[in-house]
Amino acid sequence: MTSEARVAEQVIRKRRVVLKMSGEALASSASDETIDGGVVEHFAREITVARAELDLELAIVVGGGNIWRGTTGEAQGLDRTTSDTMGMLATVINALALQDAIEHHGQPTRVLSAISMAEVAEPYIRRRAIRHLEKGRVVIFAAGMGNPYFTTDTSAALRAAEIEAEILLKGTHSGVDGVYSADPKLDSSARRYDELAFMDVVNQDLRVMDLTAITFCKDNRLPVLVFDLMGPGNLHRALAGEEIGTLIR
Ligand code: UDP
Repeated sequence: MTSEARVAEQVIRKRRVVLKMSGEALASSASDETIDGGVVEHFAREITVARAELDLELAIVVGGGNIWRGTTGEAQGLDRTTSDTMGMLATVINALALQDAIEHHGQPTRVLSAISMAEVAEPYIRRRAIRHLEKGRVVIFAAGMGNPYFTTDTSAALRAAEIEAEILLKGTHSGVDGVYSADPKLDSSARRYDELAFMDVVNQDLRVMDLTAITFCKDNRLPVLVFDLMGPGNLHRALAGEEIGTLIR
């Protein structure tokens, strides 16, 4: 590529970001619902407004833990691979709920599934995902990466690398607004890190994401921002690159 072409590409290319949200973020302890309509609506509004105002390309990876986790079934004697497949299908249910809510706000959205199910979602094809993003659609990656024994954190890291996203935003839903030196709910002296190196996360065994996901991000130089997804306006701040949560790089 000539230097002029490279400059032109840099000017034209918008910021591309992947947001990972857990399935449990869609649930509600208040209503005891697996998927709470009010919570989904809240996210849909925040996602639509932030994407439009910041004019960036946004892809989302949603987990399935509010419905099923592979380890849940395994503990009950289910074959692990079957149980993981159930977990991946759970993510599709969440993805469809999110898509529906986001599109109610007028934001075109595509669900791309790693497990083929042509009647409900497009298959995951990297180039198609990028094309959707370039056209201003929000892309929701569903069914993890289609392989058992992984989590959606690792899927989010993989997809982010594949589509050359500049950062992976890991939204938490447990009320913890970043990475702390100890569990802030148990230890009042725990302090939040503004920034951390990947090796610190690994060496100190800080439970940010699973180790496979963290080492993948480290190896592929993919920065991760851990932030509280539930706070009003936080998603906008994280997407805008404001100082929030803990940045790992
Ligand atoms: N899963 C899988 N392969 C993947 C992604 C997910 O087998 O690539 C399964 C796994 O069983 C996992 C479940 O899907 O427990 C739901 O995903 P996850 O636990 O990551 O959801 P979250 O905790 O983010 O809601």
